Amino acid sequence: MGYNQKMFGLGSKRSVIREIFEYSKTRASEIGAENVFDFSLGNPSVPAPSEVNETIKALLSEKDSVSLHGYTSAQGDLSVREAVSNNIRSRFGVNMSPNLIYMTCGAAASLSICLKALVEENSDDECIVFAPFFTEYRVFIENAGARVVISDPVQGTLQIDAKDLEAKINERTKAVIVNSPNNPSGVVYTEETIKALTDILKKKSEEYGHVIYLIADEPYRELVYTDVSVPYLMNYYKNTLVCYSYSKSLSLPGERIGYIAVCPDMEDCVSIYLAVCGAGRSLGYVCAPSLFQHVIGKCIDAKVDIEVYRENRDILYNSLTSYGYECVKPDGAFYLFVRALEEDAYKFYEKAKAHEVLVVPCDDFGIKGYVRIAYCVDKARVLGALPAFKAIAEEYLG
Ligand code: PLP
Repeated sequence: MGYNQKMFGLGSKRSVIREIFEYSKTRASEIGAENVFDFSLGNPSVPAPSEVNETIKALLSEKDSVSLHGYTSAQGDLSVREAVSNNIRSRFGVNMSPNLIYMTCGAAASLSICLKALVEENSDDECIVFAPFFTEYRVFIENAGARVVISDPVQGTLQIDAKDLEAKINERTKAVIVNSPNNPSGVVYTEETIKALTDILKKKSEEYGHVIYLIADEPYRELVYTDVSVPYLMNYYKNTLVCYSYSKSLSLPGERIGYIAVCPDMEDCVSIYLAVCGAGRSLGYVCAPSLFQHVIGKCIDAKVDIEVYRENRDILYNSLTSYGYECVKPDGAFYLFVRALEEDAYKFYEKAKAHEVLVVPCDDFGIKGYVRIAYCVDKARVLGALPAFKAIAEEYLG
């Protein structure tokens, strides 16, 4: 056949989440959107901060249209990269340089670029992910030519299990991907966890005589509901690349804007940055959307109002646990990770679906027996779904 079968496979088989989301749209047209309790997609429900829209309008009227919509340099406009690096420097005390920032189309592009930059062609490189993990990691890692290795978490807390990690690392390990606050669990990895993780990475890099890179996937950094702090990984491990996105932090998922930051303390940071530029070039991710680069440059300190998420989290966590569900209490992101009330999460999903409640079975996230509830929805949807969640629990638990 004259085309790539692997790509055909990816294109013809949608992710479980997309599959459910499509079903939800069809079902809404049949019974009305207000009767479908769709918790499938991590699409922010709070608006972007007003200064984002004001900045867009100001840019459109103030800047000349040719330069506003024109190409920036491949790695991003220098003034924007300066704004980003100043922001990292002042928030996290890292001596960041604009020459180590690469503007991209969100975290998905950032991850694909970093993996492509690090993984050797025709090698047997491996990349470790920590369950539960964002399902697209598998696509990005395999596309870069590496093998996915899953490290299992500590039961109950879902923190990284240092012992399991140590057992999974070997001389082929090229990188690990850390996502905190986590999709799908909402867990924030503690400083203790991060120290244990980075101690192992340092020890093993030395033992194998090559660097094991840490890729920090951080789209949810700003979405935290308790006083836990989210450690900035460059401060714990110099061989870190941060993949940041404004999709969730500024509610701009459709605008495709984010960045890669290479740690300035990395020994060969300039070479790694050039490999990032090369990977961006080879994947066609040059010049992230110009208008939104400029918006970010001007709205670098803007924030979305996360109160709605906090309220939804509290209502769902308190209600579901009172009905008998076992939930991991999320400190961040906008997901509730719930143990299915039977072994097979897909069967549980089907039962919930019969009550018009759409949750995501999490087998593909590397842990069996759980479902994910994305609570980035209107409070009315959360409240409307509670009787159904209660009825489902009663069906199982009596
Ligand atoms: N990483 C994680 C953990 C995510 O949950 C997502 C999106 O939901 C992404 C990366 C990709 O985000 P972006 O829209 O920035 O490409």
